[in-house]
Amino acid sequence: MKFPQTLIATLSLLTAVSLQANDSTFKRIKSVDTDQPLIALTFDDGPNQLTPEYLKLFKEEDVKATFFWKGKSVASRPELAKRILAEGHEAGNHSYNHPHFNKLTDEEALKEVMDTQAIIQETTGYTPVLFRAPYILYTPALMSILEEQQLQPIDCNVGVKDWDKSTTVELIIERATTEKTKAGTIMLMHDWSPKSLEALRTIIPQLKEQGYQFVTVSELLKAQKS
Ligand SMILES: [Zn+2]
Repeated sequence: MKFPQTLIATLSLLTAVSLQANDSTFKRIKSVDTDQPLIALTFDDGPNQLTPEYLKLFKEEDVKATFFWKGKSVASRPELAKRILAEGHEAGNHSYNHPHFNKLTDEEALKEVMDTQAIIQETTGYTPVLFRAPYILYTPALMSILEEQQLQPIDCNVGVKDWDKSTTVELIIERATTEKTKAGTIMLMHDWSPKSLEALRTIIPQLKEQGYQFVTVSELLKAQKS
């Protein structure tokens, strides 16, 4: 994909933006300070083959979730991407090829971000406002790109490590339901994981019993204490 002129202009601004970064209030968000009993479940790397199973569970349990998509996965599963948004969930940008951003040039980093915005827009008509870096690995150049593009970086305060082969369904349930899970929690999972899917069948009812509701990250951000 060729860079449009605007992107080249953006790229040349990166140095200038980096210099201002210290004064900026732009930062990564791990959780949200809120009085409301809201939790955001987030899922990286999709749309995946297993995502429809997650959608079925979320419909049954009245859960709204946030999916951080890889551009190349959107390209290979466009119909599923459209369906996820049509069912009321949110999509964020998770790069195109899932690189380690510390191994990219500034130009490559910009391309990863913008190609993903483009494929999501072209496929679904929706423009993401959230970003999560693969491996939660940010560089100053990436932060500058995100600030310039008004893409909010979203981390998490609860991770279940479903990517670790030794993690069992029981461990995922345990990690998702400690005292770290509270109002304003952003939880990180992967919708390619059959173990997380299974664990959620316990986690969701358990947290609901404690009074929590599951909303998208953008909805959670709106509930932030002023
Ligand atoms: Zn990922």
